[in-house]
Amino acid sequence: MKTLQTDLFRGIDELRRQPLVVAYGMGVDSTAVLVELNRRGIRPDAILFADTGNEKMETYAYLSLINSWLEKVKFPEVTVVRYVPKKFGDALPYTGLGENCLSNGTLPSLAFGFKSCSLKWKVLPQNKWTDRWQPARDCWRSGGKVRKIIGYDACPKDLKRYAHARHMEDPKYDYWYPLIEWGMDREACRQSIRSEGLPVPPKSACIFCPATRPEELRSHKPAYLRYIVIMEACAKPRLQGCMSAEQLQADFEHRMQLWNQRLECARGQERQKLLAKKPRLKKPGSGCAGLWRRATRQRPAMMTDYIRDHELLPIAEIEDLQQWAPLLIEQRLHEYRAGKAISDWRHFLDMLCPPDELID
Ligand code: SF4
Repeated sequence: MKTLQTDLFRGIDELRRQPLVVAYGMGVDSTAVLVELNRRGIRPDAILFADTGNEKMETYAYLSLINSWLEKVKFPEVTVVRYVPKKFGDALPYTGLGENCLSNGTLPSLAFGFKSCSLKWKVLPQNKWTDRWQPARDCWRSGGKVRKIIGYDACPKDLKRYAHARHMEDPKYDYWYPLIEWGMDREACRQSIRSEGLPVPPKSACIFCPATRPEELRSHKPAYLRYIVIMEACAKPRLQGCMSAEQLQADFEHRMQLWNQRLECARGQERQKLLAKKPRLKKPGSGCAGLWRRATRQRPAMMTDYIRDHELLPIAEIEDLQQWAPLLIEQRLHEYRAGKAISDWRHFLDMLCPPDELID
């Protein structure tokens, strides 16, 4: 009996010491998580927001609002974390995901069917911050796991993601999906936020996120649409889905040449990995052709085409951006490589596509 009691107390004690971290996206679901935690008397130890540098202005504006509420309910304020790139190779230096894509003439990895953009710009900076956080270090040292809250809601799409994620074992984290446990779908989340007297935040995502739905694109601010046009214009020459059969052949030969060079120097596991990634010749129209990857009956592969077809920006402006943006970025790159001083990305992009506030 005494041993049972001791075990029970030890278990409770460990639970008490298990740090609770909220992965806060500053969108509807994770804001509802905070409201509901407060209602249930559960206080998180840290609330982390990973800033990719390209969230909507409305999302950034929500930060001070939610911080005031967090102070009122005696929760810790939001800690903003960022991925800090260090190596740029031959490319222009960048600080955010959008700049990363522009300087490499590519699109966020989600457009190619991968998730590394959110792993690199969201998950990694949160984990790095937690690695240096004393309560987490103490917890790991004593053999425990940090409890991380993920704001999936109880709608079919998130339930699918949850069904996949719940089986993943992590040596450092124990994931908790409270909205699913509490049976709260997106509408219940909105109601919860409203009933707390808080405004419902906009959907949080990068302004050019490939997961943006056409109806969401229609309500985008013109400045976001211009960014999308510039990004797709810069990436287009490298998108296999936009290449002719001859271009695909030339692209394949170039990739094979690079692959062979790397294979010559690779040994052991690295060689095995490379062998598994031998380049393949794509058929015309089979690769990624824009932020939406491939066309469907509802929308084209390129968001730019949708923006043009639905007159979300004037055609002359779209054509100007498509013509000039890649050339100006190329020129920036030449100047940078020649050792000349170049303006930062924000300044450069403001010049290319002024933010809406500056437009009459
Ligand atoms: S919001 Fe979209 S583009 Fe941004 S990191 Fe996440 S998946 Fe990638």
